[in-house]
Amino acid sequence: MKVELHNLTKKFAGGARGKDTVTAVDNLSLEIPDGKLVGLLGPSGCGKSTTLFMICGLQKPTAGKIFFGEDDVTGLPPEARGVGVVFQNYALYPHLTVRQNILFPLQNLKGKDKLSKSEMLRRAEEAARLVQIDGLMDRRPNELSGGQQQRVAIARAMVKMPRVLLLDEPLSNLDARLRLQTREEIRRIQRRTGITTVFVTHDQEEAMSISDIIVVMKEGVVQQTGKPQDVYDNPVNLFVAKFLGTPPINVFEGRISSGKLVMGEDAVLNVSGAQDCDVIVGIRPEGFIPDENGALRCTLTGVEVMGRDKSVIFTSPCSKAPSIRAVVNAESVVDTSSHEVRFTLRPVKVLLFDKITEKRLECELSQVK
Ligand code: ATP
Repeated sequence: MKVELHNLTKKFAGGARGKDTVTAVDNLSLEIPDGKLVGLLGPSGCGKSTTLFMICGLQKPTAGKIFFGEDDVTGLPPEARGVGVVFQNYALYPHLTVRQNILFPLQNLKGKDKLSKSEMLRRAEEAARLVQIDGLMDRRPNELSGGQQQRVAIARAMVKMPRVLLLDEPLSNLDARLRLQTREEIRRIQRRTGITTVFVTHDQEEAMSISDIIVVMKEGVVQQTGKPQDVYDNPVNLFVAKFLGTPPINVFEGRISSGKLVMGEDAVLNVSGAQDCDVIVGIRPEGFIPDENGALRCTLTGVEVMGRDKSVIFTSPCSKAPSIRAVVNAESVVDTSSHEVRFTLRPVKVLLFDKITEKRLECELSQVK
């Protein structure tokens, strides 16, 4: 089921007397192709949950429309939209067994949607098998691990065979290992069922790893939409560049001067297609190659060996950051007895931004010969 959001806006009356309006979502348009998993991503308060609540019908947009396929569902209540929802606090009914928890949404169906008891049981078994908890049907929630409880919540959302699955930070209550496992599971279930899914998270790594498409939001406004790798490689502005990637992108001051990118006194790359100006230079941690003849000179503060690769930690007069982190190949040689470390830069890992607007500058970078 394709989902389309057309110019969605949501304003809340805030403040003590409801006088200060908060624009939680501002003119958001988005097309979610049938069968895809879309990650809505952004810092706390950027409007992710409000967007999800409007898709599921729990909140009414101030303006704009929502389509499921050809159907305009903007005015429909949640139960008429055919959505399955898993919230951050997915509270299961503690006194009911896993089977009864999954059956619950089916028992509430009315009129023509009402199912026979055997059909309800068949569907509950099928949903449980899908999330691999069919062996635990007679247990109660307190007899399950966090990850198993999460899977029951997903089975409960899936049992009505929703047209669209909506997940609001569904992994935030799990520990790191379970998070990883469960996110892989969500991906597997989504691929197998082909249900169009919207996944809300503030965790960029989580969104990047499971989404077909990510939507990065800031203060209610969509900043960029695209495949995770494309958005990482080609962020439209500094906000998106900083939001994606661990360790995060390193930010420096620099300038374009006569076809060269200059950082401090060092001409570090050739630039074509841009006029002379001051710029913000973003360099991904994997963009630094230690090289004793490299053009970029920095002050070495430490090296951390991490097995597969190494972190070189340094400072630079062009950066206000107390420490900058480069992730380099474990075999790279760095002279730890020296105070200076020099780097050659990988041009594709260096991004230039306008100093005022912070928008990405379209230009070609190449190594200085
Ligand atoms: P988080 O990751 O912290 O859940 P979010 O990106 O999901 O954040 P929303 O919950 O969508 O953000 O909130 C967006 C903005 O709208 C915030 O500034 C929030 O304070 C405001 N907001 C949300 N719900 C209401 C409400 N019912 N009344 C007034 N303001 C609200």
